[in-house]
Amino acid sequence: MIDFCVETGVEELNLLEYIPRGNAKDKDLVLSFEEELEVVKEIAKKYSQVKDVLNINPRFVRPLVQDYCKQCLGLDFPDVVHGCGAGTFFGFINNKGELYPCDWYVSIVLSEYSGEQINLTIRPFYDIWKEKIFDNPYELTEGSEFYQKYKPCNKCKYLKNKCYPCPVFGINKEEIKIKKCNNYFDLGRDIKKDEK
Ligand code: SF4
Repeated sequence: MIDFCVETGVEELNLLEYIPRGNAKDKDLVLSFEEELEVVKEIAKKYSQVKDVLNINPRFVRPLVQDYCKQCLGLDFPDVVHGCGAGTFFGFINNKGELYPCDWYVSIVLSEYSGEQINLTIRPFYDIWKEKIFDNPYELTEGSEFYQKYKPCNKCKYLKNKCYPCPVFGINKEEIKIKKCNNYFDLGRDIKKDEK
C-alpha cells in the first residue's frame, strides 16, 4: 500500500485499526500482537525512504510503538497520535442538529444543557464548542485521576499528550489493561536489560 501511494502520487495514507463490527463482526481478522509487530517492522523499514513524499498516519497502533522501533529495531516510525478526540477533534451531531462531544455522552450533556443550547440550527458551532462540557468531557464527570486505573497508561509519557485511550471503557471499572502496550513496554525493558 505504501509503494502504491508513492507510485501514484498520494500524499497521505491513514492506516486504521480493524474494528470487528458491522460486516466485519464475527470475522477473526484482528491482528495478533506478533502480526502487528511484523506490520510495524515493515512500515518502519519503508518509512525513512518515503517520509518526504508520503505522510503516513499509523492509527492502528499507539505512540509507544515509536519508542519500540527506536529502541528495539533502531528505526524511525511515523508520528502516532491515538485515541479518543471527543470534544477536542471529534464531535457527534444527532439528527436534530444537537452537538455532543461523543455519542456516549448524550444523556450526560442533556442533564446540564437544554437541547436548544447545543443545537446547531440555533447557535453557531464555536459558541457551542466553547461550552465547558466539550473541554475534556470525561475528566469533568469522572475526575482528573480517572486515567490512573488505565495500565500501563498511568506510567506512560504519552498519556494525554499524544494518546487519549477511550475513557468509556473505564467507566464503572476498577482497572483497564492495554495489553499490547504492556507488551511494548516489556520489549523495551528487555532491550535495556540486554544492554547492561
Ligand atoms: S500505554 Fe496508554 S497512553 Fe501509552 S501509548 Fe499505550 S495506550 Fe497510549
